[in-house]
Amino acid sequence: MPYQGELANKASHFDIIQDPEVQQFLDQCKYIQEPSEEEGRKMTSGFVTPPNFDKIKFPDTVIAIDGSFYTSNFSENLPATEIGYIKIGSVLIDMNQFDGLKVGKYVDPFKVAKLLDRSNALKFILPSSNVYLKGKKTTVIDSFRAAVDGHLYSQKTRFDQNNPKTSLRTTLFHLASRRPSDMGTGEVNKLKIHKCPNPNCQEKHLEVFDTPEQQYCPRCNIEIYPSDCLRLWEEVNEFQSNQQVMGRFMQAIEHLLPMHYIRYLSENSLDSLAATAFFIDRPLGIFGTAAWLHKSILRYLAEINDRLGGLLQKNQSPILIIGLQKTGQIVDYVGLIDRFIKPNRILAIDDDYRYSYIVPGRKPAEGGFGNETYYGQDFIYKTPNNRTFVLAIPYPFASKDSANFVKEKIKLNNYQNLPLALGLIHKFECDLYENAIIPIALANEHTAISLVPGGTVLNILTLDKLKNN
Ligand SMILES: [Zn+2]
Repeated sequence: MPYQGELANKASHFDIIQDPEVQQFLDQCKYIQEPSEEEGRKMTSGFVTPPNFDKIKFPDTVIAIDGSFYTSNFSENLPATEIGYIKIGSVLIDMNQFDGLKVGKYVDPFKVAKLLDRSNALKFILPSSNVYLKGKKTTVIDSFRAAVDGHLYSQKTRFDQNNPKTSLRTTLFHLASRRPSDMGTGEVNKLKIHKCPNPNCQEKHLEVFDTPEQQYCPRCNIEIYPSDCLRLWEEVNEFQSNQQVMGRFMQAIEHLLPMHYIRYLSENSLDSLAATAFFIDRPLGIFGTAAWLHKSILRYLAEINDRLGGLLQKNQSPILIIGLQKTGQIVDYVGLIDRFIKPNRILAIDDDYRYSYIVPGRKPAEGGFGNETYYGQDFIYKTPNNRTFVLAIPYPFASKDSANFVKEKIKLNNYQNLPLALGLIHKFECDLYENAIIPIALANEHTAISLVPGGTVLNILTLDKLKNN
């Protein structure tokens, strides 16, 4: 094991893969490998011409959300004492201004760099191993729970700083109350925690309310927080690095934020919401203990889409959230087959395809791939300009309970907003970024505004819209 700070170099990597014992070991393993010409053609035979997007109307606004996190030991002498530092940037792009400024495919890299300056991002600092909040918190888990709840409730996540009901925590109530099963409450000011976090109590299905007051377990009387429902605390280590938990927290926030904007816009200006699209840089699936959220998101989106359709009566397509993937198994796979894919082609990844080629050897999940995690369908898309992207858009269903779901989820025609998604990607593709698209990047001080929910930008946006109408 290298000493801390010592980097493994390329030479030792080479030594490892040349080691005959390693070769022998790999011979006994199943893993994804470079396809032959014939295999490559077979793997790409299911790609089809995508729906045409020449005549689509672009949204007025695109909001892109991108996060990063670090765990950091803040003293060299205490390598096992850590804090977590999570930053989530939200960037708003005004499409009308963007159109006026883009010259061909060229985007000024300096302006891109400026846009990527996340100084305005939402910041979340959390206790990790061996760090405790002062006061009564004597475990990292309790400190972590208190800090997470404090962040979600804080003014920085509110659209109106004086109104706690505009906080991210209230958005969590809106989602958690919609949980199918007996964990849902049907009332937006009430949610259920699956069990008390006190290991000596574990009282089941605790109810908590969307109030500022501290709430307590009725059985053991410890502090209970609404955000305990995310169950992130279950994976917190007291004495070891909490990288995974920080990643899970970031994941939860990246999925919650679009819902947060959607809730705000739906309560204030459906027209603005109808003219907004979202990008996040991950699949539309939630992994780990907060996976249950994916069902609430599906249900919530279906409700909002109903309202959009009902109120606007003008072929309003469903809310578009694009989960763009820059890394991961599908992206790795695409690297192997890319040369076989023709320009302007798309594939909706079906379960057979995924289990045969992308994750060969993995046991198929009961109820279909991603049954417990995904709220969106993965696509591989090669643009007319020959760039390949892995993207997901939400399933156009309120739930995955239908017997035909596994078949229906891969039909391109079911995705009314697919042409728009492809049109946006085509519009945003850029020479500067290989297989990453620019949305976040659409880079320009004139076209993009960095914002946080607590900022006033969305209010301005909403007001503009109301004025225009
Ligand atoms: Zn308890």
